[in-house]
Amino acid sequence: MQIIDKIYIDGAFVTPHGDEMFDLFNPATEQVIGQVRLADAQDARDAIAAAKRAFPAFSRTSQRARVELLKRMHAAVLAKEDELYEAITEEYGAPVSRGRWMARHASNVLIDAANVLEAYTFKRRVGGAEVVMQPMGVAGLITPWNSDAGFICGKLAAAVAAGCTAVIKPSEMSAMQTRIVTEALHAADVPPGVFNIVTGRGDVVGTEITTHPDVNKVSFTGSTAVGKTILRVAADTLKRVTLELGGKSPVVVLDDADFDQAVPLALDAGFMNSGQACIAGTRILVPQHRLAEFEARVRDIVARTQAGDPRDPQTTVGPMVSQKQWERVQRYIRIGIDEGARLIAGGEGRPEGLDAGWFVRPTVFSDVTNDMTIAREEIFGPVLSIITYRDEEEAIAIANDTRYGLQAYVLSADVRRAHAVASRIEAGRVLVNTLAHDPAAPFGGLKQSGIGREYGVYGLEAFLETKAVLNVPA
Ligand code: NAD
Repeated sequence: MQIIDKIYIDGAFVTPHGDEMFDLFNPATEQVIGQVRLADAQDARDAIAAAKRAFPAFSRTSQRARVELLKRMHAAVLAKEDELYEAITEEYGAPVSRGRWMARHASNVLIDAANVLEAYTFKRRVGGAEVVMQPMGVAGLITPWNSDAGFICGKLAAAVAAGCTAVIKPSEMSAMQTRIVTEALHAADVPPGVFNIVTGRGDVVGTEITTHPDVNKVSFTGSTAVGKTILRVAADTLKRVTLELGGKSPVVVLDDADFDQAVPLALDAGFMNSGQACIAGTRILVPQHRLAEFEARVRDIVARTQAGDPRDPQTTVGPMVSQKQWERVQRYIRIGIDEGARLIAGGEGRPEGLDAGWFVRPTVFSDVTNDMTIAREEIFGPVLSIITYRDEEEAIAIANDTRYGLQAYVLSADVRRAHAVASRIEAGRVLVNTLAHDPAAPFGGLKQSGIGREYGVYGLEAFLETKAVLNVPA
């Protein structure tokens, strides 16, 4: 049993004022593996005060000094990679290759931000004015459980690069990863108050951060429902808000696609992060006349897809993070069946041979129409829908017929054709014949998938205000 009873304020590990103990589970065994003592609104206020005190000095640090700081933070998180990987497996259940990627991603985002900052120009001449990009102030950073360490480090990296100070509210379900990241960042000699970490409940600590007048910016990753609440409550103090929310991403398989590549890629896009990914490709759009061929290959691959023990290197789909999430996914599988979709792989219950752990069967429905619940709502589990189309126009129309617009995938043998289709898809990112992430490219959603962008220069500028000083001699 791991007991986590410290939060991080003003450069020190302190006992929270909040005294609620929250259980941490291993989702592969359903066992309680630890407890975290949750911060409360008073702790959030203390953290905000520390960040406010640190801001005047930190906002005036040189670009060079912040590049050096980000490099130290990078080295410190990298040094904890194995420990972080263990925590990711233990409290989240990511399969080996995903867990390894996540543990490395947490340090990568820091060095990526250092590189962006190094090349960035804060002052520009525009007409007769000098335009200066200035840090926004205290930033509230709120993260979900599906990639805790990566989101903490990524948001903090951009805030620090900009010269902002931060109060971080990670998911309460990811306290082990948070502890390791906090210890690493503490070792990196970050000036006190520049980052503060208060693990607590969303409606307590999150609400304090998103309503407090001394917080100037909120960067949130999580559900669309909570994102809307944040936008509403942050309006009173007119906070700048970045929202990275849900998705229902289309995978558009064009009729010329080579199925040897397209089918595995489509399934990987859907089952990535055990389906607990905002960017998961959950609506697979297949040309009507090639459906039988597509389905046969899907059945074959899913039959060989291992869902189970995340520590087994053969496993590609791990458990759902919690019982609540497991029940949610089961409910959607039932809804799919009830609404008349045809199961071609998986289904309700646990994978064969598993009677404990929040495991679900990798599931694919065919004969799905885009108005069915499973095609409209974000499930956040490995449950995919195959939807057929007659021609390219219809494929694009179906792809765009969603309230979301986070990511999309286009698969084709003809790259130019794929790019032409990509240009018409309403999504913040469209991946053509690939699943590879590009850290320099902006990431974020259109429509109800969010507001604003992260990563690269766009992510840095999300923490900067534009100020013009007029009539400055050249
Ligand atoms: P969630 O919205 O329930 O919680 C996210 C975070 O917000 C948690 O830290 C939570 O404690 C906090 N929170 C909850 N209520 C709050 C409130 N009223 N005020 C302030 N903070 C509050 O989401 P989740 O269940 O942790 O994560 C899953 C969701 O996140 C999915 O919908 C998924 O699509 C989304 N997500 C989006 C991205 C993206 O980049 N677009 C990435 C990962 C996950």
